[in-house]
Amino acid sequence: MDHSTRPGAETKPGRPDETLRVLIDTAALHRRVEQLAAQLDRDYAGEKPVLVGLLKGSFVFLADVIRCLTIEYEIDFMSIAGYGNLTEHSGAVRLLKDLSVNISGRSVIIVEDIVDSGLTIDYIRRMLLARQPADLAIMALLNKQTRREVDVPIEYIGFEIEDTFVVGYGLDLAERYRGLDYIATVDIADG
Ligand code: 5GP
Repeated sequence: MDHSTRPGAETKPGRPDETLRVLIDTAALHRRVEQLAAQLDRDYAGEKPVLVGLLKGSFVFLADVIRCLTIEYEIDFMSIAGYGNLTEHSGAVRLLKDLSVNISGRSVIIVEDIVDSGLTIDYIRRMLLARQPADLAIMALLNKQTRREVDVPIEYIGFEIEDTFVVGYGLDLAERYRGLDYIATVDIADG
């Protein structure tokens, strides 16, 4: 697999009927992750926030962020599944795994791979706010602002992207492509 692929380049890491085109290359991802981590270092200096990764898509992003952090932190995960089909989201969310940590009185940062309609993150945000954290912020690697259906504050955004389906760096298409070290759009050939 060529991990040095440049933006716009076509790649064929998976099925022959799926052509990927690099949207955000490895270097740009890593630069932005370092910037986000530096921001967290500043904003949470002297604190020990709980970083809550939403599975499955956020695990690569979260793993890279914590390796750039200098502050203390704790990580935990929630696993959720939408009821929608592959690329369209119905809005309903099923909780598959809850947190292990008690977040009452703690600073919490929800770490999400991508915010699209905002329904998932809004649901999780409300659920966690009910547990009375000291404060709660949201960090998303990718944001599709034009798709938003609910207004939800996102304090840390990696990249704004167009309304297009993307994979890589933790994001999948039917469980494929999570291991790509770049973000790509997917063209699926007809027939
Ligand atoms: P929302 O609830 O904001 O509409 O959807 C968020 C969830 O939908 C994300 O956590 C992700 O699982 C999925 N999703 C939305 N857009 C994309 C995309 O372009 N690619 C992939 N792989 N998943 C997406």
